[in-house]
Amino acid sequence: MKKPSILVLYTGGTIGMMKDPKTGSLVPFDFGNIYEHMPILRNLDYVIDFYSFKNLIDSSNMTPEFWIELAEKIEENYEKYDGFVVLHGSDTMAYSASALSFMLENLAKPVVFTGSQLPMGMVRSDGRENFVTSIEIAASKANGMTCVPEVCIFFENQLLRGNRSTKFNAENFNAFSSGNYPTLADVGIKIKYNREFIAKPAEGRLIVHKKFDRNVGILKLFPGITQDFVKHALNTPGLKGIIMETYGSGNAPTSKWFLDELAAAIQRGLLIFNVTQCKSGSVEMGRYETSLNLDKIGVVSGYDITTESALAKMMYLIGEGYSHEEIKKYLQMPLRGEMTI
Ligand code: ASP
Repeated sequence: MKKPSILVLYTGGTIGMMKDPKTGSLVPFDFGNIYEHMPILRNLDYVIDFYSFKNLIDSSNMTPEFWIELAEKIEENYEKYDGFVVLHGSDTMAYSASALSFMLENLAKPVVFTGSQLPMGMVRSDGRENFVTSIEIAASKANGMTCVPEVCIFFENQLLRGNRSTKFNAENFNAFSSGNYPTLADVGIKIKYNREFIAKPAEGRLIVHKKFDRNVGILKLFPGITQDFVKHALNTPGLKGIIMETYGSGNAPTSKWFLDELAAAIQRGLLIFNVTQCKSGSVEMGRYETSLNLDKIGVVSGYDITTESALAKMMYLIGEGYSHEEIKKYLQMPLRGEMTI
């Protein structure tokens, strides 16, 4: 039988760091020598190939252009490998995993993002476990079928749907949560796949979407927010869409000035996408008086989508050049399992 083959794509981030023996500072790991550093990988009996991006970045420097490079590498190698592992800094991993989920239409193979809180080259690093388990997940099949044909995030002991994840802890090894969707797998002695929550492999050819429009923003509401601030945000030159992070089940102030600013922006053609600040639960416009008006003026409900996923989805839909009405429609329906309506 053919050995499972995995392509590891290294983008940067803490996981790939080790202490330079000469200077003592953290420098990127040479994945060309990975078997020397981690001889345990030989026990997996897989074909594991590595690709390091030229410009390794701390993920705080992530850009849509980098997402496109990453998706292109997957596209180029899609037929050759059974699965992909993306080594990525944890800070913006949820944004990147969300973006890739929208870019890779008809995905039928695993794309597992992982990283670590401590560099792989440190004694207590969580990187080695995360790395080895991600490779196992990317390679695993049951009855000849790939187990997780999704863009997902593996960290500590949980496999999460990428576009449902959020980084919620800057220190714990367990750094990600998925408040509105169950784990795709729980990892202990065994890797237990929760099959009823995992997408079925798509049929048809992989289609890779490579356009993003950056003219979007995030407006987080807070008590005391001023008219000037809202006005400036909504009048940002070139702005096409905004994710408005509201309270609770999608609630916002009922002040006339606030609703007038939003209504005027919507009249000008701005898309306003209502996403809750809560880490779990859904927007339900009209449940309270404080969200009823938003519905009336044409704010679009984000249901239980994460902010990271909402941002990637908006950049993707506007970038693809859909009409205003189509974008409104697609924002409110799950395209890659990113929301429950
Ligand atoms: N700042 C790092 C990054 O996101 C943190 C990490 O790798 O987890 O690239």
